[in-house]
Amino acid sequence: MNKDLRKAIIAGNWKMNKTRPEAKELLEAIKPLVANAQGKVEVVACVPFTNLETAVNTTAGSNIKIGAENVHFEKSGAFTGEISADMLTEIGVTYVVIGHSERRQYFGETDETVNKRTKAALAAGLIPIVCVGELLNEREAGITSEIVGKQVKLDLAGLTADEAKKTVIAYEPVWAIGTGKTATADQAEEVCAFIRATIASLYDQAVADAVTIQYGGSMNAKNCAELLAKPNVDGGLIGGASLKADDFNVIVQAAVNG
Ligand code: PEP
Repeated sequence: MNKDLRKAIIAGNWKMNKTRPEAKELLEAIKPLVANAQGKVEVVACVPFTNLETAVNTTAGSNIKIGAENVHFEKSGAFTGEISADMLTEIGVTYVVIGHSERRQYFGETDETVNKRTKAALAAGLIPIVCVGELLNEREAGITSEIVGKQVKLDLAGLTADEAKKTVIAYEPVWAIGTGKTATADQAEEVCAFIRATIASLYDQAVADAVTIQYGGSMNAKNCAELLAKPNVDGGLIGGASLKADDFNVIVQAAVNG
């Protein structure tokens, strides 16, 4: 496996945190810290809808890209409370998180809706970060591969090879998100490698080699270097640690040096 074939991406997922002034303050703090990552590691902040315009304006001219945390699959219409892909691109958003376990758990997200959102995002020119991962009882039952393989197949169903190459997969074991329990680097590598093999079986090795696969789940300043050093871990989707500029920067620097 050759990591040079794909882009390393460190993306913060702010979840439902930060008002607009707080968002501006955090991004102003992160900007100079991560400037050296330009051309080496893609740095992304995925922020609440209300912060998107502030975030795009604050990071203009810097190497930080902005992402949303969800997107609706229809182009427009009677979908009260929803946001379309075109609305995001018009603001200047580049990435969008799709199928985060919190959306699957609390908001009825399914692999079918993840697939529809992924297609809508790609059609609008957004880069989807598609989240997959097993529950604790699924890992304990020894069916992690079965669960994650099924998610990858259903979530990417119908994507062309070019679309698949543009799609980022975030492997996020649900038991590790926001719990302080991190998958070991070997566990993360094992599943990320399995995801790459699944993509190779769906498309071919060239597509699989091009897809960025992140690990997410309590990644922090202490454990990031070991996780990011693994050959199939191409970056991270970071929740809690992305809300502190210094911690987020340590993770970005680990990816730059990794
Ligand atoms: C996440 O929200 O995607 C995440 C991985 O959260 P945390 O880093 O807090 O576990």
